Amino acid sequence: MTRTTVLSQTHLLSLPSTPPQCSELSTRFNEQGWYPLLKRCKSMEEFKQVHAHVLKLGFFCDSFCGSNLVATCALAKWGSMEYACSIFRQIEEPGSFEYNTMIRGNVNNMNLEEVLLLYVEMLERGIEPNNFTYPFLLKACSLLGGVKEGIQIHGHVFKAGVGDDIFVQNGLISMYGKCGAIKHACDVFEKMDEKSVASWSAIIGAHACAEMWHQCLMLLGDMSREGHWRAEESTLVSVLSACIHLGSPNLGRCIHGILLRNISELNVVVKTSLIDMYVKSGCIEKGVCVFQNMAEKNRYSYTVMISGLAIHGHGTEALQVFSEMLEEGLAPDDVVYVGVLSACSHAGLVNEGLQCFKNMQFEHKIKPTVQHYGCMVDLLGRAGMLREAYGLIKSMPIKPNDVVWRSLLSACKVHLNLEIGEIAAEKLFMLNPNNPGDYLVLANMYARAHKWNDVARIRREMADKHLVQTPGFSMVEAERKVYKFVSQDRSQPEFDTIYNMIHQMEWQLKFEGYKPDTSQVLLDVDEEEKRERLKHHSQKLAIAFTLIHTSEGSPIRISRNLRMCSDCHTYTKFISKICEREITVRDRFRFHHFKDGACSCKDYW
Ligand code: ZN
Ligand code: ZN
Repeated sequence: MTRTTVLSQTHLLSLPSTPPQCSELSTRFNEQGWYPLLKRCKSMEEFKQVHAHVLKLGFFCDSFCGSNLVATCALAKWGSMEYACSIFRQIEEPGSFEYNTMIRGNVNNMNLEEVLLLYVEMLERGIEPNNFTYPFLLKACSLLGGVKEGIQIHGHVFKAGVGDDIFVQNGLISMYGKCGAIKHACDVFEKMDEKSVASWSAIIGAHACAEMWHQCLMLLGDMSREGHWRAEESTLVSVLSACIHLGSPNLGRCIHGILLRNISELNVVVKTSLIDMYVKSGCIEKGVCVFQNMAEKNRYSYTVMISGLAIHGHGTEALQVFSEMLEEGLAPDDVVYVGVLSACSHAGLVNEGLQCFKNMQFEHKIKPTVQHYGCMVDLLGRAGMLREAYGLIKSMPIKPNDVVWRSLLSACKVHLNLEIGEIAAEKLFMLNPNNPGDYLVLANMYARAHKWNDVARIRREMADKHLVQTPGFSMVEAERKVYKFVSQDRSQPEFDTIYNMIHQMEWQLKFEGYKPDTSQVLLDVDEEEKRERLKHHSQKLAIAFTLIHTSEGSPIRISRNLRMCSDCHTYTKFISKICEREITVRDRFRFHHFKDGACSCKDYW
């Protein structure tokens, strides 16, 4: 045991050599006295005083005393892991209680490697780990993402005979879930004799980590069937994000109903994820409603609400919520400002945006990040102030990233400015040479300027680099199922009916004044062929399908992977009027709400 002696000697150096004078402590100090005093410690200073007296009076040899000192120092909020370690190293024969304490303290302090070392040391010294050892050990593995270590420890669990312990099993599920080994997580879960709310939380969380959203919801159903209504906060948050990813507002609303019926007081974290769910699934009004009825709001709730209003194009409302936040005395941070600036940019509030950008730097002393610059370039670019946007990029004290240049490029596309557009594209090709989308935007601009040779050049470059455009798709929910449509897709079983529907709509559209915008087709083909290609963009297929399969007047919600083209935007405006349907389209950046022939973005996107 030479190592231990060396350790204890060095660690002794950091301990108080002469106990501080404290008459009250000395008089009340006796064999029973140190324990309640230890319990009352509220700071490291007080703790050191007690420790010093324990040493002076010779109680430290008592192992109960030593382990309590370690536990207090390692686990208290004010505790110091270093100090706890120095005491731990002086205990002559530490047992599993002392090791467990040290393991737990180190997990809490995120000294994860140390946790594994302690465990190995424990095994080497022949000290038996127990059901209190494993949950924290597994937590360390999951935080380290160490599935190999986790699997090894899983083996030890059986050897230690604690394989049936529910806390250990829950720890295993969480560990496998966080390390991405979903199959192992399910194996443990299925073999459990008894499941607690924490077990369900762990398995639902594991599926959320693996982005298996559908299974998350199925498991929530199973959980309630087994009589566990009171889900943990983390479970509710997993389930709500499942609703967001599945793009299903109906499911989300259903979950909200379950929450309200079973949990009388939702806390601020769950309510905020509810807002997030509503906002991201297109129901901005519902999100606002939850927000307004919140008794307690924190900075995160404000951030979610502001960014939500931003992506729905409600710039003025977002600014109102922001000033409400400032009135509440909550200091804004850089994340809130990203929401505020993007709200201004989505709604075309140029002056307000410039003012906010100034306030952020000079009033709130927040250094703009590349994201803030991205928002500002977007704001100026959308408003057609392309020179100003380019000037801002050149004046940036930090290196502009691809997002910044892409904002400029897409603004150049909207306002058809080839000169600046080519500069932006050139920068993008250098930063990110393999993104087909950027090449296509430039090709689109050349096509609209009838520079077919340049279009061909870009196409060749793409072919040389084997860049293939991600096919655009649109998804809709009808009859409780989600359907996916790809542009020009004729493989759908119902493609005849869908194409017929599109054909039928044509004369009505023409009658209302719709003209196909063929400049969106990047091929040098005749007008007729261009019109034909335009007709079968994924969004139009999705709309036709939903018109067939949903009842008259019911809203249509579409989510898509790419930005819609301006022809689909015009087309959808007309459809909303002709068919009297509210149509919501979500792309990667924002929402468009079409109603009575107009869009909420006011054609500013
Ligand atoms: Zn289109
Ligand atoms: Zn729009």
